[in-house]
Amino acid sequence: MSKRILLVSNRLPVTIDKKKQKVRYKPSPGGLATGLGSFYRNYESLWIGWSGVTEETLTAGEWKVAAKRLLEEYRCAPVFLTRADIKNYYYGFCNKTVWPLFHYFPNYTVYDKFMWQSYEKVNERFRDMVMKHANPDDTIWIQDYQLLLLPRLLRERMPAVKIGFFLHIPFPSFEIFRLLPWRNEILEGMMGADLIGFHTYDYVRHFLSSVSRILGYEHTLGQFLVGNRFVKVDAFPMGIDYERFSGAPKEEEVRLEIERIKKKIRSEKIILSVDRLDYTKGILNRLEAFDFFLKTNPAYRGKVTLILVAVPSRTGVETYRMLKREIDEMVGRINGAYSTIEWMPVWYLYQSLPFHKLAAFYFLSDVALVTPLRDGMNLIAKEYVATKGDGNGILILSGMAGSVHELGEALIVNPHNREQVAEAIKTALEIPQEEQREKNRVMQQRLKRYDVNRWAHDFVERLETVATYSRELNEQILSAEVKKKLINGYKKSFRRLVLLDYDGTLVRFVKRPEHAKPDQDLGSVLRRLAADKKNEVVIISGRDKETLENWFSGIDISFVAEHGVWLKERGVGWSEIEPLRNEWKDDIRPILDLYVDRTPGSFIEEKEFSLVWHYRKADPEFALIRVSELREILVKLTENFNIGIMEGNKVLEIKNAGINKGRAAQTWISKGPWDFILAIGDDVTDEDIFQELPGNAYSIKVGFGPTRARYNIGGVGEVRLLLQELSTAPSSGSRNRR
Ligand code: UDP
Repeated sequence: MSKRILLVSNRLPVTIDKKKQKVRYKPSPGGLATGLGSFYRNYESLWIGWSGVTEETLTAGEWKVAAKRLLEEYRCAPVFLTRADIKNYYYGFCNKTVWPLFHYFPNYTVYDKFMWQSYEKVNERFRDMVMKHANPDDTIWIQDYQLLLLPRLLRERMPAVKIGFFLHIPFPSFEIFRLLPWRNEILEGMMGADLIGFHTYDYVRHFLSSVSRILGYEHTLGQFLVGNRFVKVDAFPMGIDYERFSGAPKEEEVRLEIERIKKKIRSEKIILSVDRLDYTKGILNRLEAFDFFLKTNPAYRGKVTLILVAVPSRTGVETYRMLKREIDEMVGRINGAYSTIEWMPVWYLYQSLPFHKLAAFYFLSDVALVTPLRDGMNLIAKEYVATKGDGNGILILSGMAGSVHELGEALIVNPHNREQVAEAIKTALEIPQEEQREKNRVMQQRLKRYDVNRWAHDFVERLETVATYSRELNEQILSAEVKKKLINGYKKSFRRLVLLDYDGTLVRFVKRPEHAKPDQDLGSVLRRLAADKKNEVVIISGRDKETLENWFSGIDISFVAEHGVWLKERGVGWSEIEPLRNEWKDDIRPILDLYVDRTPGSFIEEKEFSLVWHYRKADPEFALIRVSELREILVKLTENFNIGIMEGNKVLEIKNAGINKGRAAQTWISKGPWDFILAIGDDVTDEDIFQELPGNAYSIKVGFGPTRARYNIGGVGEVRLLLQELSTAPSSGSRNRR
C-alpha cells in the first residue's frame, strides 16, 4: 500500500515573492511549516497550499516556471489565490470571523455573507487542487481553521479516501460556537474527515457537544457513526522539534548571539515575552502586570528588564493595527515612567526573529512570561523550556494556553489577574535555582517524549486505524452479488419466513411517532408478499397491538407487538406470550415521574406491559447523564421485581424480564422447517431476533454499526427496494405451500 501523504494547509512551507522582477523562494515562517517539516521530508509526500503571493503578482510564464520548480524541488503544489481572495477569505472570514470567535472574542467577530462565500469558494479551490494530485489510496491531512470545509468537499468526491483534519486553534464552547451563522456548514465540513484532532481534551469536549447539539449526531467515546463510516475525534497535543531547541545553546551562531546580547543588557534579570502581535496573546495585560510589578516592587527597578518581542502579524486587519498603537503607547509610558540613564525597563522589538536569535533569548532569560488570554497550544512556552537544558529559568504560563496541560510545573496564572501575574514574576525571580532546574527537567522529559514527530506519526497512525474500521464496516454491506443470491434463494424456496421490524426498517423515523403510518406503497408491497402462499410475513414491533391492528387492517400478515408481549398469527386473534404480571409498575412509575420532572423534555409512555421513558426531546448531553443515573437505580431493582431494562433509540424501556423480540421470533422459527428465512431490523431490540436465527438465514441490519446480523443495508429506501423485488420475483419452484 502506498504511504503517500498529502499535507494541505493555508500556507506552503516555502514562500514565493517577487522583487525587482525576480521571483524568489524562501522558507515560510511559523510553527506549522517547521513543525511538520521533518515529517514531510521523511514520507513520500506532497504539500498543497498557498505560496504567499497573489495570482496577479506573477505573469503566466512566471507561474509556469514557479509551479514546476515548487513541485520538483520542494514537492509543493500551489493553490492560486487572487488579491480579492486574500482580502475576503484570508483577512476576511479566516481572521475576522473564525479566529476571533474561536478565541472567545465575539465582539471582534464580523459576520459577513460575502466573506463567507469567499471562504467557501477558496475551500473549493483547495479541493480542486487536491483532486488534481490525489490517488485513492493516499492519506490526506488537512490543517487548521482556514480549511474547515475541505474535509467534506473532498469526501463528496472521494468517498473512500483517508482524510485527517487537525485544528491548531481552540474549539470554543457551544455557547460561543452557536453564534456563528454558518455553524452547521462548518461542522458538516469538518465531519467529512475520518479523524478530527485537537490540541486538548477541552476542545474535543466542546466539539463533541456542538456536533451533538447542532447536528444531532450521537457519539460513543468520541466516535461517531456517520452513514457508512466512523468519524473519530481525539486530542493530540502538538509537540516541538525538541532536539533542535535543546541542542541550540551549543550551536556556534546561537553562542555568539548570547554573548552579543549579554554585552548589551546589563540588567541582573531578564524576563522574556515573545508572540505574534495578536489580541489573543494578552500583550497589553502583560505589560500592565509588569508595570504593576515595578510599582509594587521598587527594589527590582534597575535590576529587571522585560524583552518584549512582538512579531508583525495580519497587519491588513484594523484590530491588529489598533493593538499595535496601544502596545507602542504603553511601552512608551512604562519606559517614560521608570527609565534611568543606565536602565530601560522594556526592550521592545517589533520584528520576527530568526531561530538563532530566538534561541539565544530563550537561553538567556531568567523568566518567560507567556500569558495569552486564549491560545490553542502555544509553542513558545514549550520551546523555552526545551532550550533551557540544565540551566535556570522559570516559565510563567497562562491557564488559557493549550500547553498548560503538559507544563503543569510552570507558575500558572490567570492573565486577567494583574496582581497574580505581578506576584508570579516576583516568585519566579526568587525561586531557588535547584527548584527551577527540577521543574524544567520534569517538563523536558515530557516534551522530549511527545515531540512534533511523534505527534504527527501518532495522528497519522490513528487515522489509519479509524479508516480500517470504516473499511471493515463496509465489507458487511449487502452487495449486489449477495442480493442476487438472496433473491434466487427466495425464488427457489417453498416455505419462507420473513421477519420485519417496523420503525426505522420499513418506515423512516419521524419526529412525531404517531405520524409513522404505513404509506400506500408499503401497503401494496406487504399485500403482494402476503398473497404468495409460500410466505409467512411477520412484523415484529415495539408498538402496541392497537396501533398495529389499526394501521395494517386488511393486510393478511402476522404481528408481534410490544417487543414480544403480544402475538397475532394471521387470521387468528391476539394472544399473550405468557400471562404477565404488572404490579411492578406502581413502584417504578414514581421513579420515572421524578426523572421526567428533573429532565425537561422527557416523558413517559405507558404500554400494557411496560413503561417507557422517552428522552429524544431533552438536551442530549444532559439526558445521557440522566439515563445512566436512571439505569443504575433500575438495575438495583431488577431482582426484586423480575423486570428487564432495555435501551433503544433515545428510550429506556422497563418491562417484564424475559420479554424480547428474539423470544417472539423463536415462536415462528420453531414452526418450521423453513427453506428461506429473512430478518430485517435496525435497532438494539432487533439484535435479539438476529441471535435466534439459524446459520443459513439472511439477517440484515438497517444502517451501520456493530451487529449480529450478517449484512448491513444503507437505509429504509434500500429495504423497500429489496422487498419490492421479492414481492415481484417470479417463483422458480413448482411445489405448493405446505
Ligand atoms: N517564532 C519565530 N520567530 C519569532 C517569534 C516566534 O520563529 O520571532 C516561532 C516560534 O519559534 C514558534 C512560533 O513562531 O514556533 C509561534 O508559535 P505559537 O504556537 O507560540 O504561536 P502562534 O503564532 O502559532 O499563535
